[in-house]
Amino acid sequence: MPEKLSPLIDALLTSQKSGEIFASNGFSIIDFADGEILLSEGLEKLRVRAVDFWDHTLADKVFPEDRQSFLALYEKLRAGKADRAQLQLRALDENGTPHWLMLTFQVVTRDERGAVTLLAIHDHDSTDLIAAQQEIRERLVEIESLKDLLFSINKSLDLNETINRIIEHLHRIIPFDRASVQTLEGGFLTVIGSFGYAEALMQDLRFPATGIDNPSARAIASRRPIICNDVEHDFEGFVKVESGIDVKSWLGIPLVYEGKVIGLFALDSGAPKFYTNQHVRIASNVAEHIAMAIEHARQHTLVKEEARTDKLTGVANRYGLETRGQELFARASKDDQHLGILMLDIDRFKDVNDRFGHAYGDQVLIALAGGVAESLRNNDYLVRYGGEEFVILLPGTMTREALVVAERLRGKVMRLKVDAEHACPTISVGVFSGVPGSGDMLHEFIRRADLALYDAKQAGRNRCRVWNPQPEYFDKNI
Ligand code: GH3
Ligand code: MG
Ligand code: MG
Repeated sequence: MPEKLSPLIDALLTSQKSGEIFASNGFSIIDFADGEILLSEGLEKLRVRAVDFWDHTLADKVFPEDRQSFLALYEKLRAGKADRAQLQLRALDENGTPHWLMLTFQVVTRDERGAVTLLAIHDHDSTDLIAAQQEIRERLVEIESLKDLLFSINKSLDLNETINRIIEHLHRIIPFDRASVQTLEGGFLTVIGSFGYAEALMQDLRFPATGIDNPSARAIASRRPIICNDVEHDFEGFVKVESGIDVKSWLGIPLVYEGKVIGLFALDSGAPKFYTNQHVRIASNVAEHIAMAIEHARQHTLVKEEARTDKLTGVANRYGLETRGQELFARASKDDQHLGILMLDIDRFKDVNDRFGHAYGDQVLIALAGGVAESLRNNDYLVRYGGEEFVILLPGTMTREALVVAERLRGKVMRLKVDAEHACPTISVGVFSGVPGSGDMLHEFIRRADLALYDAKQAGRNRCRVWNPQPEYFDKNI
């Protein structure tokens, strides 16, 4: 066959030059005239036999999906419509593993009737290349999805909304059945966001996270994602939340912010062996963003709290009154409930400052605010309104009751000590209560309490007075 090969070699060299043939995997040469065959290792691995060429059974070695195009191409070569053709197809190797092959056929010689007498085949296994291309495509989808996700996170400041968006978005990439975001505090995980659970079920759901051996505790302790693709087998004590699905696979990713584990992101699936390394990679990436969103929301709340707090006394300030106070006012209006207002003012505080100094005056304010705060209910809202004036909002409290509270506070302040030697100066209190109607303003409620306070001062201080709606009362005070 050697002399027959020179045109073949020429043909291959031409192909190689034109870049059509990759790094060689193998050449096969079929001499139809003499019935000789030289099979490449590659084709042999795919269980191609010499007989396949004579019996036209070559197509049987090809995946059924690719058989049609293979036969069409082979026929084209045989019929003399082309001398050269290329085809990418799939075939199973001797172990049953599928391979992608790039086959290049080159007719080297034909007889006078045009029948192929010498055929060369170059085979190149492109399985890895195709897998790499597939991987790149998947990565691109991931990157695009994450980009969308980040865009949606950045648009929202509300933590709940952010977490829900993140989980919903991730669900488009990883089709888990349920997911939950849990924050870690005091050794317990508390669910703060979830997907796929009945809402009532997840409210205030808490799991211990330390001192036990379960996948969550392991993920937190190891600070690494944990895949459990067979939970029953892997963890006998796996705690399942009763809600429709029977968890077979579980993926838990610790939420880490600045090196500290602040929670857990858990994904459940009813399918066994569900999670892959790719899932872990994507979910870990998303978990970083969840951790960031949680921490940012926390900091945002802290800053907001700080802005609402009076530095000296630690109680709310005027800004607190404008935000939280307005909320309480609006709620009372909506619920058709009374809102009691107390306006407190220290008696002759100027004299205190003059006699004992400003620093001592500050101590008085601290002691007074502390003492008053201590004797209020949780829902009451104490605000340092001005220098030595405090406003207290008492939700659901009618006038008589508000007066009782005022008297109680006045009595308490009289017994209050600033330090070992000094008693707290007395206070005067103005009282008002009403049900806010539409169009009413919080400031008007406060003004009425202030008018009552003025009355208390006029009457001699260290006493409480209720706002008096008589017109002459206004005349007297304007
Ligand atoms: P009255 O019984 O009529 O309320 O007399 P008063 O002296 O308390 O009334 P006034 O409103 O004239 O004085 C309030 C004083 O409170 C004046 C001011 O120096 C003092 N004050 C306001 N803010 C602070 C503060 O933050 N620290 C201290 N030490 N004093 C303050
Ligand atoms: Mg005053
Ligand atoms: Mg005063």
